[in-house]
Amino acid sequence: MNIDDSEIKVMKRGMGWVDLEKSLIEKGCPVCNSAERAVAKYFDFMLFEYANDVSTHKKMLASMGMCAVHSGMLKTAEAKLKSDGLNIAVLYETVIQREEKLLADIEKIADGNNKDSKFYFGKKGAFNSFKQNILKHIVSKGKCPGCENQNGAESFQIHNLLKIWPDEQFRKLYENNDVLLCRNHFLYLIKECANKEAYGYYLEVQKDKIARLHKLVNAFIAKHAADVKENPTAAEKDAWPKILEYTGSKPDIHPPGRDFFIE
Ligand SMILES: [Zn+2]
Ligand SMILES: [Zn+2]
Repeated sequence: MNIDDSEIKVMKRGMGWVDLEKSLIEKGCPVCNSAERAVAKYFDFMLFEYANDVSTHKKMLASMGMCAVHSGMLKTAEAKLKSDGLNIAVLYETVIQREEKLLADIEKIADGNNKDSKFYFGKKGAFNSFKQNILKHIVSKGKCPGCENQNGAESFQIHNLLKIWPDEQFRKLYENNDVLLCRNHFLYLIKECANKEAYGYYLEVQKDKIARLHKLVNAFIAKHAADVKENPTAAEKDAWPKILEYTGSKPDIHPPGRDFFIE
């Protein structure tokens, strides 16, 4: 095995390890945990300091706001600031102003009553090309700023995991049954993995934990049979929520894996 000890030592002295350790202690998927924290922090800054910042507004205009997951998180961040919503109002006023203009511009394109227009609806196929033109005009040109930040945090943590795995202190925390890399982030880890040893380690741990989870959910189901008097244990009751989180990631994570590999 060719493991660079010095790289691990450097990492363990830095913020990467502090963050990873925190996410491992938190239980569940450590990459989801880190990404959730990173985005929450980013939103705090965005609302508190950058609601008037030009580059923030540029990003928001390019993406025309945020995805469903991050719109919800933004609302939570604003509530935490004990604000009546002024920061979000300021941040989104330019977005809604842009939308007003985009819709007005569409009006100009939609010259469907003009027989001379190439978008005249009476012509076969004209409505389809008209729609394409509209969509091209109004589709957002940028990624949700929350997703962009989440993706950066995910990449950072995945690469931390790929470096730190031989470390004993890390393994003790990571192999805890309450820590489980979600499926989306497990796939991401494999995608980024550059050596067979790291891949082998993470696969073995994942296999053990999934087999255990399967046993627990089976026991949970079996104990619901009419002739069984025994109640499910706490671990058995906890199996299905863990499976939900395993396949779907944490609620505040825009699932990355689902479209990661479909090109
Ligand atoms: Zn995850
Ligand atoms: Zn998003």
